[in-house]
Amino acid sequence: MTERIGFIGLGAMGKGMASNMQNKGFQLTVFDLDPAPVSVLVQLGATAAASVAELTEASDIVVTMLPGSPEVEVVVLGEGGVLAHGQDGMLLLDMSTVDPLTTDALGEKLGAAGMAVVDAPVGRLAQHANSGESLFMVGASDDDFARVRPLLEAMGTTIHHCGAVGSGMRTKLVNNYLAIVSCQMNAEVLTLLARFGLDLQTTLDVIHGTTATNGQLKINYATKVLTGDIEPGFAIDLAHKDLTLIVNAANQAKVPLPIAAAARESVSLARSTKFHSKDFSALLDHWCERAGVKAPRL
Ligand code: NAD
Repeated sequence: MTERIGFIGLGAMGKGMASNMQNKGFQLTVFDLDPAPVSVLVQLGATAAASVAELTEASDIVVTMLPGSPEVEVVVLGEGGVLAHGQDGMLLLDMSTVDPLTTDALGEKLGAAGMAVVDAPVGRLAQHANSGESLFMVGASDDDFARVRPLLEAMGTTIHHCGAVGSGMRTKLVNNYLAIVSCQMNAEVLTLLARFGLDLQTTLDVIHGTTATNGQLKINYATKVLTGDIEPGFAIDLAHKDLTLIVNAANQAKVPLPIAAAARESVSLARSTKFHSKDFSALLDHWCERAGVKAPRL
């Protein structure tokens, strides 16, 4: 039997992910509060649902790619949500980055109603979601993993089964700690470079030739802020949300993360400015503005 797929959340990531599935032979029903990406998917052959309830009733697997825990809780647990309208045997594939305790609660509540939950947060950038080259960190039973695998293969190139439900989300937080703190450190370093009056390309060549090199600088900075493109991508607001999830989860587990906490407050500063909705590599432009130097560009 071909599984009927519903996809909720067609933003910077979800639009590309859903488009790849639709283009590779899945028949999608889609929903987003914003009608613009919905019409893009409809042009590709997807069916637009008028509500989460309508989408859920038309789906065997519901995929969510929403900003964070509050949105996922409303869509899944709220009135007119997935839990209220899902059938026995339905599977929720949550690909958003949320609090792992939210994932645990979804697993318990949907499990009690005979539905399965898989967490599969996404690694890499929006450009990879568009090109079908994302990486997935999956928390699932073996059977549920096998069930979602064809969907993931249509959306990405790299799939890691991290363990039981919730382990994908915890892996994502560990990964994003390094990615977002690297992004903040690069902003500080490149601001210092600008103040010193150093040549950008020469200094990048030095960094990329030593152990100081990092993926944020090599891939994200190189294709976004350093070319003058600060449109998200991954917004500073979402980077702040993830660092908050990371600090909170570590606090709950009694693991101190002083660098993550300091970076979270640095991102908080950027978040209180006009840069809040810009790409997280625009932390550089924010930092240069604070220091009163011209932001470096390639
Ligand atoms: P986004 O803000 O661009 O997209 C979110 C979408 O959800 C929007 O289209 C919005 O209209 C929709 N939405 C919000 N509330 C809704 C509701 N109640 N019902 C229906 N639709 C609703 O966010 P994004 O960048 O696509 O990120 C989505 C998730 O993926 C986040 O958890 C983020 O942390 C994570 N993530 C993002 C990136 C990235 O590079 N952007 C990379 C990996 C993971």
